[in-house]
Amino acid sequence: MSNNNKYSRETHLIYGKAFTTKWDYNHHVVPPISSSTTFRLDTVERGALGFSEFERIAEIPDTEPPIYIYDRLGEPNKEILEENLATAESGETAVTFASGMSAISGVLGILTKSGDEIVAHKTLYGCTFSLLNNWYPRYNIKTIKIDLTNPENLNDVITEKTRVLYFETPANPNLEIIDIEAVVKKVAEINKNRDEANRVKIVVDNTFATPYCQRPIEWGVDFVVHSLTKNIGGFGTDMGGVVIGKRKYRDILMLYRKDFGGVLSSKSAWPIMVYGLPSLAVRMQREINNAMKVAEFLAQHPKVQFVNYPGLPSFKYYEIARKQMIDFHGNFAPGNMIYFALKGNSPEEGREKGRAMMNYIAQNAYTLTLAVSLGHVRTLIEHPGSMTHSMIPPDEQIKEGIDPAGIRMSIGLENVEDIIRDLEDALKQI
Ligand SMILES: *Cc1c(COP(=O)(O)O)cnc(C)c1O
Repeated sequence: MSNNNKYSRETHLIYGKAFTTKWDYNHHVVPPISSSTTFRLDTVERGALGFSEFERIAEIPDTEPPIYIYDRLGEPNKEILEENLATAESGETAVTFASGMSAISGVLGILTKSGDEIVAHKTLYGCTFSLLNNWYPRYNIKTIKIDLTNPENLNDVITEKTRVLYFETPANPNLEIIDIEAVVKKVAEINKNRDEANRVKIVVDNTFATPYCQRPIEWGVDFVVHSLTKNIGGFGTDMGGVVIGKRKYRDILMLYRKDFGGVLSSKSAWPIMVYGLPSLAVRMQREINNAMKVAEFLAQHPKVQFVNYPGLPSFKYYEIARKQMIDFHGNFAPGNMIYFALKGNSPEEGREKGRAMMNYIAQNAYTLTLAVSLGHVRTLIEHPGSMTHSMIPPDEQIKEGIDPAGIRMSIGLENVEDIIRDLEDALKQI
């Protein structure tokens, strides 16, 4: 390979100078977007070593530069982001996925097989509910739903076949809070007489809180999953997901991702790594301050039935929230999500009023956007019963803790007085 003119000009269009001196990653302040699906191998032996190392990634010291082979196996942008996410959550390792749902299927995929059982809290994000209810029965994996706000309920449902205990805290959409410490203690009792292969593993979806507000691994859970699409990404430009846990699971998570294929695009890993995660703390702090004021405003409004916000002393789970939702310095960090419902003489009337308020907001409110998703710079508002949780049949919604009149808000970075003014105006209309 040389730079002489033995080769024709159209071939030069492909290879250029062949060896360029412009390739100096070590001095970039911001890592470049890596956009290579495949990687040049200097020798066949390097390729063979790369494949053999992939099978035992957990044993290779972090200080050794990896041998990249193919994007689906690993590439720099995802792996820098993974290091930073593991640090944020106090985990040993992180493996990213194409979306929150592919991360959830990834961790459940490595922990279960046909014949196993999953125990889950009754209130779950709609697609997680659908995964467990509509797909896993096909693979002979059964899910038992319980009210995990009382960890004693575990006594009735854990069997020899239980492999996973799965929950969100705060739960999507109603913000119910599970006492992580109490659940970990209960599961440790159950696991005492089980060998490693049969132990119940705890998986927590920490999307609502983000690592800024809560780090379940510090309480002893086995795995944390996130939708990076939400507050960690932060700007609403890219989808992503991550599983964080012990280093010994890195191999099998990477093998699962390789074969099931839900890889995070390097072009999506990049903005999450460069913009999202570095600004998480400042965004969350501002959103918490805003959410506190919005929750207080809603709680005193005569047309509002109830407000669930972990920062309100009147909230049923306030004490548990105070214990486990804390920032990196131990300060109370109750997050940016609010769930509330309007008064009505019946659930139907409450639901109708919610719908009317939402449609008014969609047309008239400058600082409230009717949209699903959450954790963006803009305040988003939605009606879970007919939007994010519509996969759950209406009669089951109430059982799963989803109020037909419930409205979910994700508070953004606006001036909070503007958000409150728009809410006040919308509440006047109904
Ligand atoms: C959005 C969300 C998910 C799914 O994440 P995607 O990135 O949309 O696949 C999972 N759990 C919770 C709590 C969510 O809010």
